[in-house]
Amino acid sequence: MAKVLAVLGRGAIDPEQPIIRADDLGVLRGDGIFETLNVRGGEMFLLREHLVRMAASARRTEIDLPPYEALDELSEQARQAWLAHPDFDPDAEAALRIVATRGLEHGSEPTVYATIDPVPRERTLPRRDGLQVLTASSGVNADTRGQAPWLLGGAKLLSYATTMAVMRWAKSLGADDALWVTADGYCLEGPTSSLVWRDKDVLCTTPTDTGILPGTTSTYLLQHASKLGLRSEERLITPEKLTRVDGVWMTSSVRGVAFVTTLDGQELATDPEMHSELVKLSGFELPS
Ligand code: PLP
Repeated sequence: MAKVLAVLGRGAIDPEQPIIRADDLGVLRGDGIFETLNVRGGEMFLLREHLVRMAASARRTEIDLPPYEALDELSEQARQAWLAHPDFDPDAEAALRIVATRGLEHGSEPTVYATIDPVPRERTLPRRDGLQVLTASSGVNADTRGQAPWLLGGAKLLSYATTMAVMRWAKSLGADDALWVTADGYCLEGPTSSLVWRDKDVLCTTPTDTGILPGTTSTYLLQHASKLGLRSEERLITPEKLTRVDGVWMTSSVRGVAFVTTLDGQELATDPEMHSELVKLSGFELPS
């Protein structure tokens, strides 16, 4: 159960209170959007960037999302409830999730709420230990989603059933995570993370016109890459070429910055110094 629940127009309420109706399209069709962001020291990291991305997801899905200010206020109500919660620990990380479904089946305002949960320590261990990753076909070409708006590329959708399925598949084969690869052979992103790699003095990620979710963490790292003496670039890369670069990471708001140790069983070059710089740059803690 979430530790904190705030509902649009109602503020923070008892998180045991049911708030979703049986005819909510979020439940019936997974028809909705969301954001998850990191709360550290009681502060929300990159809230603006997440709310801007949520508005882009809403435009793409034609969900009538409340204005920025209303979602900002909702997040703040959740944060205040978290600061006052007996389990709040300023030294521990938490995750704020903001959810908006399309609303009820026969028409209504969207259902909008926010929750906060502590981040379990196990979620942060890949920052320290790295990830073994398997490639998995996304079934579409790199340019398919750009030409097919109904595939909703770039939107952060509630319907994560295939996302969870590919992660179960990777884990059933002893790996930690998957990497989506297009039918024409290019790396996209992880099921819940962005792909970042270093090629000499360039920090790279996947182009957004492939329909990946534009990651707030990867964008932040690339925007600040010059602090590490690196340039930044969006590039397409094949899995084979990825095994020959200088370091590969999967980045996301809760798990943080995790390096990839193997891809389809093949050992990758790791760069511990650059890894700790990237973790520090994005403000995540390295677990001991
Ligand atoms: N790509 C996908 C498909 C995701 O689901 C996520 C996060 O959940 C990311 C990338 C990473 O995005 P962010 O860094 O904004 O958490």
